[in-house]
Amino acid sequence: MHEMSQDHLEQSLRSAQPLLWCNPRFQPETAAQADTGISLADVRAAQARFQRCAPLLARLFPELAASAGRIESPLLATPALQQALNLPVGSGRLWLKADHSLPVAGSIKARGGIHEVLEFAEGLALAEGLITPGDDYGRLAEAPARALFGRYRVLVGSTGNLGLSIGIMAAALGFRAEVHMSADAKAWKKARLRQHGVNVIEHLGDYEEAVAAGRRQAEQDPFCYFVDDERSPSLLLGYSAAALHLAEQLTQAGITVDAEHPLFVYLPCGVGGAPAGVAFGLKQLFGAHVHCFFAEPTQSPCFLLGLAAEPGQLPSVYQHGLDNRTEADGLAVPRASALALELMRPLLSGVLTVTDAQLFRQLYLAGSSQGLRIEPSAAAGFGGPALLCQSPAGRAYLARHGLQAAMPQANHLLWTTGGLFVPEAEYQDFYARGAALQA
Ligand SMILES: *Cc1c(COP(=O)(O)O)cnc(C)c1O
Repeated sequence: MHEMSQDHLEQSLRSAQPLLWCNPRFQPETAAQADTGISLADVRAAQARFQRCAPLLARLFPELAASAGRIESPLLATPALQQALNLPVGSGRLWLKADHSLPVAGSIKARGGIHEVLEFAEGLALAEGLITPGDDYGRLAEAPARALFGRYRVLVGSTGNLGLSIGIMAAALGFRAEVHMSADAKAWKKARLRQHGVNVIEHLGDYEEAVAAGRRQAEQDPFCYFVDDERSPSLLLGYSAAALHLAEQLTQAGITVDAEHPLFVYLPCGVGGAPAGVAFGLKQLFGAHVHCFFAEPTQSPCFLLGLAAEPGQLPSVYQHGLDNRTEADGLAVPRASALALELMRPLLSGVLTVTDAQLFRQLYLAGSSQGLRIEPSAAAGFGGPALLCQSPAGRAYLARHGLQAAMPQANHLLWTTGGLFVPEAEYQDFYARGAALQA
């Protein structure tokens, strides 16, 4: 057996060693998780909601005029990055899903966050008779709808990017938006929200505390809607719709996903909602031929801990001697979402962890090799392909699932999750740190 013992795993985690951990409960042939009640129909419903709301989004956000209200990102071939990352010969091709460039929110949160605010707004407008199904939803940008939305507060707790997405979307519709920010949140993210008229409440504690504060506020007020990053199916489904669009992009790029052409996807993970949504959607479409790996900072491996623990337990990184401090602010989460964990338990292939130094090196490589401008969190998965092909745990995974012969025709997809709005000076600082760390 090449499996790590529990003791060895615990020791590696505590000492913040980067590693690849393969999920012993992974069931390659399973696509759905019956007890969570979420299915492909829900993924399609989220995509349909985005389509219905596209005319509204195009009216609210001038940057969406060109795409007629569609919020999407390109699939990129990245041969120069593949070379820079030293992928061994014969291990397949590297691609990148450029969610770091998603408009409106500047991160993957544009998917889940905007979906949940739209679902809430749509529900209110239908209940009040402002629209009926089939109407032009562009009308939700007009005065009667704004007056209705203005009676409600929309709250969220966030390390930054979810706050940007919910805050910007809610404020654009006329809701009173309130974002509870953890201590890790970057100053520019708070400033940007305030420019959009969002009420930013700063907390001294971590992400979990910011979420709890928001949730408490909302419980006391029926005109208050709380976006619960730790529990929300609507967020997760907003992310999952990405899989349907990616499937079209893969076809257009001539990429087949089958037994001879496995697809490996590497997704940065915070609380787990975004990567679990995407992975769930992909498993529905590609089943055993897609292999999803999450990537977490060595100081915040909450999803790995949650999957390694007995079902029903929800361990915190603090219990394992870690401090949850990382420059990957989008991933600085001490405890995973229980919903995302349950959904992923049989579907996720594994989790890799990454040090902050690696994040900066990889951010630099994305910029220097391909001109891609990403934030540190978005680089978390870059070490995945090499770990899969070269580490003992990765090779054991490939052998166990009979994938070795297919590796020359494999495709690896790095999901870059944020970066568009990072201020230039801040980005230059990240880039310089990464350059200085090159071996
Ligand atoms: C939020 C975020 C993630 C992860 O999403 P979770 O739902 O918290 O797991 C990854 N990358 C970036 C840049 C993010 O903002």
